[in-house]
Amino acid sequence: MERISWDQYFMTQSYLLSLRSTCTRLAVGATIVRDKRIIAGGYNGSIAGGVHCIDEGCYVIDNHCVRTVHAEMNALLQCAKFGAKTEGAELYVTHFPCLQCCKAIIQSGIVAIYYAKDYKNHPYALELFAQAGVNVKHVPLHYTIAEKE
Ligand SMILES: [Zn+2]
Ligand SMILES: [Zn+2]
Repeated sequence: MERISWDQYFMTQSYLLSLRSTCTRLAVGATIVRDKRIIAGGYNGSIAGGVHCIDEGCYVIDNHCVRTVHAEMNALLQCAKFGAKTEGAELYVTHFPCLQCCKAIIQSGIVAIYYAKDYKNHPYALELFAQAGVNVKHVPLHYTIAEKE
C-alpha cells in the first residue's frame, strides 16, 4: 500500500469533517495543522445546541445561509476555546474560503492555506492573501480511504 502524503492526509481529514456538516447548501470541512500535527478541525454548522439546517431548512438572507458558522471559522474558534496557538499554522479546507473567513484566517496568523475545490474564489480574497504573505495552494483530493470488502 502506498503511503499517503501529508497534503492528502490533511485534506482527507477535512473531507471527513465535511461529512458532519449540518447545512444542506454546502458541506465544508477545515483542518488546522501545526508542525504536521492536527490542532483543530471544523465543519459548517449551527452554533452548539442550535437547530440544524438539515432539520429546519436553511435560514437564507441575501442568498447566504446565516444559521451556520463556517468550517474555517469553527476550526479557528476551537483553537481560541482550547487555547491552541494559530500563528504559523496551516489550514486545509475542502472549498476556497469566503471573504469573511479569508480575513479571519489572515488575522489569526495562518501562513498557508490549501483548498481542494474552487468555490466562488473572490479576487479580493486572493489579493488579501497575497498582501498578507499567505501561501495559497490548490490541493485536489485524490485519495480514497476505504475499500469496501
Ligand atoms: Zn444552512
Ligand atoms: Zn467562510
